[in-house]
Amino acid sequence: MLQRKFDKIVKDFFPNAKDAKDTSIHYLGKMQIEHELDISKVLMATSVCSDDINVPSTTFFNVLFGPFIMGGLGGLPFAGQTGMTAFAHHIPDQGSAFIFYGPHIGLTLDGELGKMYRPRQEETGNSCGALMLALSRFQDSGYKPVLNDDDYQQMKLEESLLPYREEILDSNNSQKAITEATYEIIHKKIHDHLKSCKNEFHVDKVTLLGGIIINTDYGLDDYFDARNFEVVDIKSL
Ligand SMILES: [Zn+2]
Repeated sequence: MLQRKFDKIVKDFFPNAKDAKDTSIHYLGKMQIEHELDISKVLMATSVCSDDINVPSTTFFNVLFGPFIMGGLGGLPFAGQTGMTAFAHHIPDQGSAFIFYGPHIGLTLDGELGKMYRPRQEETGNSCGALMLALSRFQDSGYKPVLNDDDYQQMKLEESLLPYREEILDSNNSQKAITEATYEIIHKKIHDHLKSCKNEFHVDKVTLLGGIIINTDYGLDDYFDARNFEVVDIKSL
C-alpha cells in the first residue's frame, strides 16, 4: 500500500521516474538487447553524492563490476580526470564501461521535496543535505562561497551553482530547481572528462545513464528519473 502511495507522489513531481527494479531491468535490457553489450564485462562508475542514503541506489546495477566512485558532495565527479583515467584503465578486456550519475532529492509522503525520513530518525532531515545547505546560503543575497582546503567540495559545489542562483531562487520549487541545476553540472562534467580522457580507454563503448535519484522512506525502493541514456562510441568523441 505504502509503495503504491509513494509511487503516486513520486510521479506527481517526476512523471517518468521508475523504481529501482524497473530502472535496472530497463537499462540493463537496453544495453544487452539494443546495443549488444556483454553485461558480464561491464565496469560501472558512479558520480552520485557521498550520502549514505544513496548506497542502495548504486546497487540497482550490482550485477556489474564496480562501482568506481567518482562522486563527492552533491554528486559532482570530484575524482576528476585522474579518476576517469583510472576507471578507464580498470575496464575488463573486450568489455565496456557504464557511468551512472546525478544528484539526489528526498521526498516525503506529504509531498515535501528535499526532505526525507532517514532510518530510525523521528524527524525529517534534508536530502540532499549539501544542496539544501547551498540553497539556504543562496537565500542570503550577500553570500559568496570561498574555496578552501577544509571544505573544498561544498564550496566548489556552491561555486558551480552560482550561475544558476537567480533561476533557482525565482523558481516556485527551489529544492527541485537546485537539483535540476546540479544535474546539468554533473552531466557536463562527465562529458568533459570523458572527452579529455578518451585516449585512456582500451574499449569502444561507454554507456551513460544520468538522472535524478529520488529517496523515499519506510525502507521502500528509491526511484530514478532518467534524463540521459546514451551509448557513446569513445573513438568518435
Ligand atoms: Zn547529498
